[in-house]
Amino acid sequence: MKNTGSPVIPAAPAASGSSKKSLPRETELAPPDLQPQELKIEDAPARRMGFAIVGLGKLALEEIMPAFGECEHAKAVALVSGHPEKAARVAAAHQISEGSVYDYENFDRIADDPAIDIVYIVLPNSMHAEFTIRALKAGKHVLCEKPMAVSVEEGQAMARAGREAGKKLGIAYRLHYEPLNLKVMKWCQEGKFGRIRSFTSSNCQTVEAPNIRLSHALGGGPVGDTGIYSINAARYCIGEEPVSVTAVAHFPDDDPRFKEVPESVSFILTYPSGAIATCDTSFGTIEARRYQVLCDKGSIEMDPAFSYRGLKLKTKELLEEDESSDISEINLRQKNHFAAQMDGFCRAIIDDTEVVTPASMGIADLRIIAAIQESYETGKMVKIDS
Ligand code: NAD
Repeated sequence: MKNTGSPVIPAAPAASGSSKKSLPRETELAPPDLQPQELKIEDAPARRMGFAIVGLGKLALEEIMPAFGECEHAKAVALVSGHPEKAARVAAAHQISEGSVYDYENFDRIADDPAIDIVYIVLPNSMHAEFTIRALKAGKHVLCEKPMAVSVEEGQAMARAGREAGKKLGIAYRLHYEPLNLKVMKWCQEGKFGRIRSFTSSNCQTVEAPNIRLSHALGGGPVGDTGIYSINAARYCIGEEPVSVTAVAHFPDDDPRFKEVPESVSFILTYPSGAIATCDTSFGTIEARRYQVLCDKGSIEMDPAFSYRGLKLKTKELLEEDESSDISEINLRQKNHFAAQMDGFCRAIIDDTEVVTPASMGIADLRIIAAIQESYETGKMVKIDS
């Protein structure tokens, strides 16, 4: 048989009585190069939104920059740093042009850079307010790391700047984009396990000097750094704002790390429904990143709950028939928290919807943080006005 380049098969003899037309003995199997009319061609993806990352420290370099690789709507287009050599290396590694590297002095020139849609503030807490307000005034949307700022007044000024600029301001509470914590939020809203009576949480770690977390001037301290996760999770589980807090703090005399910020703080928050949250946070223990919600018909346990990866969720449910308990471990496909958060913030801009973690949430947490500090400084229970 002559080799024509296309596979050729002999036609099968037609079955007797079959209405099928018999094929010629030599049949071309490859179709002609014509595009069928029903062929579905996807639209080109919309332009990814350009992020400028401000502050190239541990979180920015180890978590945020790599997360852009997993984003659908976000890409890194600019860097802002006080260290030109480091910034140049990071820019080269992420294909960011030299002209898109700014420092803290010429930062306001981002107003003239149309590639930048969003500024992500990853600086020490004491610098969040200044750079958020400057970025909003430059006409950019802002995603700001937690804690939003170092005082309620600063948080309110940031929110006002967002309103005046007509730009979105989101606080980087990544767990509001994380599937297991979202599942917990939904169950708690639906009352799946009944009335919530108790929330307990620990978010603790060891912090070695030098670290921005140990400096009062830079807005350090365990409550704003790690305790804030428990404060925020208590809100999304209990679904209310606390009405009072009682807190104690420990400043060890013999450890120079804790001259300016406490080593450990424990606090009890009470809620209008009668639910109570008991939380501790520390810079001087092994890592603990958990919460437990006890309800009248079951319980929820996340351990770890606040880590970047490997979160684990377990529930216990009272079975009506025999009053015994059913324990389940819930598995959901995990996502990169930072990629999900950046994409989520972009979606709110693209669709012009409410940001999932708005400035008002950041301010509500700052109000609780201020009350915790007042309580451990005065030794008294402090009422919290929302
Ligand atoms: P870091 O100390 O590693 O980085 C801070 C960066 O700010 C550094 O690049 C430093 O050079 C720069 N900087 C600018 N001015 C400075 C000054 N005057 N003093 C010190 N540093 C200065 O800190 P980090 O762990 O990357 O934390 C940065 C922010 O991110 C904080 O607000 C922190 O609360 C937040 N954070 C959030 C998460 C999260 O899971 N969402 C995790 C870690 C940190």
